[in-house]
Amino acid sequence: SENRDRMRAALGSVREQLGLDLPLLIGAEQVRTDDRIVSENPSNSQVVVALASKASREHADRALAIAEKAAPSWSSRPARERADVLLRAAEILRGRLFELAAWEVFECAKPWPEATADVDEAIDFCEFYARRMIELASPRRRDVPGETNRLEYFGRGVAAVIPPWNFPLAIPCGMTVAALVAGCPVVLKPAEQSPAMAWHLVRILREAGAPPEVVQYLPGEGEEAGAALVEDPRTAIIAFTGSKAVGLAINRTAAEVRPGQPHVKRVIAEMGGKNAVIIDDDADLDEAVVGVLSSAFGYAGQKCSAASRAIVLEGVYDTFVSRLAAALPSWTVGPADDPDTAVPPVINREALDRVERYKQIARAEGRVVAEAVLGPLRDRGHYVGPLIVADVSPHARIAQEEIFGPVLAVIRARDLDEALQIANGVEYALVGGLYSRSPAHIETVRRRFLVGNLYINRPCTGALVDRQPFGGFKMSGIGTKAGGPDYLLEFLLARSITENTMRRG
Ligand code: NAD
Repeated sequence: SENRDRMRAALGSVREQLGLDLPLLIGAEQVRTDDRIVSENPSNSQVVVALASKASREHADRALAIAEKAAPSWSSRPARERADVLLRAAEILRGRLFELAAWEVFECAKPWPEATADVDEAIDFCEFYARRMIELASPRRRDVPGETNRLEYFGRGVAAVIPPWNFPLAIPCGMTVAALVAGCPVVLKPAEQSPAMAWHLVRILREAGAPPEVVQYLPGEGEEAGAALVEDPRTAIIAFTGSKAVGLAINRTAAEVRPGQPHVKRVIAEMGGKNAVIIDDDADLDEAVVGVLSSAFGYAGQKCSAASRAIVLEGVYDTFVSRLAAALPSWTVGPADDPDTAVPPVINREALDRVERYKQIARAEGRVVAEAVLGPLRDRGHYVGPLIVADVSPHARIAQEEIFGPVLAVIRARDLDEALQIANGVEYALVGGLYSRSPAHIETVRRRFLVGNLYINRPCTGALVDRQPFGGFKMSGIGTKAGGPDYLLEFLLARSITENTMRRG
């Protein structure tokens, strides 16, 4: 109840500050534009959370010039100093946890427990990458008589950070602080839907000691400010998380070498998923029902790790489907600031229209098992009722395409072999789950289910920094593991330095 009180207090105080005016932060300058990005509260679309200035190509050009100039001195600072900025940022984030979670409730309609988890993950990224950079910076030596050999890391250069809105603090923070600690100045172009969360992040990093020229804030449209950052020859690395379509477009654009471009651009692209959970004949069905639904409907299915397919073995198929139907009513749809809400609204009108279209397709492609009814909520914000359909063909659109909403397709499989074929038979390979009591089946799935993150007998969602490095393969991404030991290497270049120590005089 103490937490509930703190939550109410934080929501109350942030409610007073809504309508924030957000300038671009270009170097030490604040720049305001007439054209604005409006960030609305998805739970109540009348409420404006923030009005962000909108960066043009010219603003991107100015920010990149500043970042490029700052790169050599930032990269040559001792790693310990850059790591200290991250550790101070972690402290500030921790001190403002409840307030930042409240902003996230309003801007992105994250229910409270998930909003606080997003802030916690941002803190974990700061502390983990700070530690990891210090490890990498300690000299690696391979000396032999008459010769010293060492490997030295330094930053690749200017980083364009382009995040999505669905983890509006943790994802931009993880990508930004990894770049910063590696010595790369960052130009951050936040998602159009969550400029306020990114604003808080940039201000916190500056307060923690990052010079203004190494962390700049450039809200704007993907096709304009985002594309300008990707195309520019001064950008050395692009850290992108978002949809498959945009990730592939960024890869294509970044591959073109422009006049005066000194390097081949590095692209990190973490994209979507079409995640499946396999339910074995001997699974604990109580656990499986809770696990599948929490992964499918948590944050209204708007997570790259959301389960959107349940692949159920013949022997338990009918029982499992009726248990899913029976459990659906506990998934109440409501505003994100109501502690009883399990399924918040989706992010905006466009998302609502897309999910409603997929629900129509789902009704045609499967047998409706259960659907939540909304009532009067419908007119207040972007609410959508979760839907479960069964008897879906593995080739159906709803079994192949990322919906990014609370729609679950249940697919029947004869045996484990067929279940694995179906599970792997999509273009994505991000997250997967298995419920089984059989050690032999667990072993088979471990070997043959090709996903970046596999969860066995627990909900397939919620990767923790360091413990469960996160990222997928195929059309889900190039395989970089955020929150893992290798992530910083993407932002670093290594020089091998050999010296002959035999010479005299
Ligand atoms: P999106 O691809 O629409 O947008 C992501 C970012 O790209 C935004 O900042 C946007 O402004 C920018 N952008 C758009 N067009 C651009 C262009 N032409 N050039 C440069 N930048 C451009 O994705 P979204 O709707 O914000 O996020 C949802 C998607 O993100 C889902 O597919 C989800 O699965 C994926 N996602 C993946 C992960 C992961 O770790 N793999 C994590 C979270 C979300």
